[in-house]
Amino acid sequence: MKIRVKNEDELDHYIICHKCHTLQKEVPIADGAKALCSQCGVVLYHRDSRLMDHGLALSMTGLIFFLLANAFPLVRIDILGSERFISITSMIASLIESGYYLVGLFVAYLIFIFPLMIFLLYILIFSLMKGGKGKTMTKDLLILLSRIQPWHMSDIFLISILVAIVKLFGMAEIHFGISFWALIVFVLIDTYITRSIHLGELWTLQKQVYRSKKENPACVRD
Ligand SMILES: [Zn+2]
Repeated sequence: MKIRVKNEDELDHYIICHKCHTLQKEVPIADGAKALCSQCGVVLYHRDSRLMDHGLALSMTGLIFFLLANAFPLVRIDILGSERFISITSMIASLIESGYYLVGLFVAYLIFIFPLMIFLLYILIFSLMKGGKGKTMTKDLLILLSRIQPWHMSDIFLISILVAIVKLFGMAEIHFGISFWALIVFVLIDTYITRSIHLGELWTLQKQVYRSKKENPACVRD
């Protein structure tokens, strides 16, 4: 089936099924309802008016835990009477100091810069949508988010820390700092956001938000 579109904006009225890849026309649905693919029956999108509030609250909480995870040492290791504090920033710094510039830079992007950027982007996107402002900016930010999201690896980082700690258990005394627990909470929030709020859903939400703003122009003052 061929679909003719007059311009790029008209493409906004269509959605591609992520399972069978057929192009479907988007239809307005009621709050709390789901739209299914006409071919394979998979959920294409659903409308949840609380998504913005939930998303904003979750991303703000996530950012607070991320900052906490970086503010203090993750673990304190006691080996034969000597103490060592390990934090995310000190690990990156020691990699760079040891001459592993490329690895250090790579790690810095994967476990610090990208997670920070992703959570700031979420906050910005949800705030803009809540205010109904910055249509083009929201679109650009969503595209940027989709580009950097696959590069964010805090969960893998947490697993590698746990593996390292397990290996050290017999040899040293390990004390977990507040940042370690904050990192766990951050990874849990992050996993929850990426699993429950799909990027396609955010794209659909932004279309709904700005379309309804266009249809109901700002309220008239009396
Ligand atoms: Zn389908």
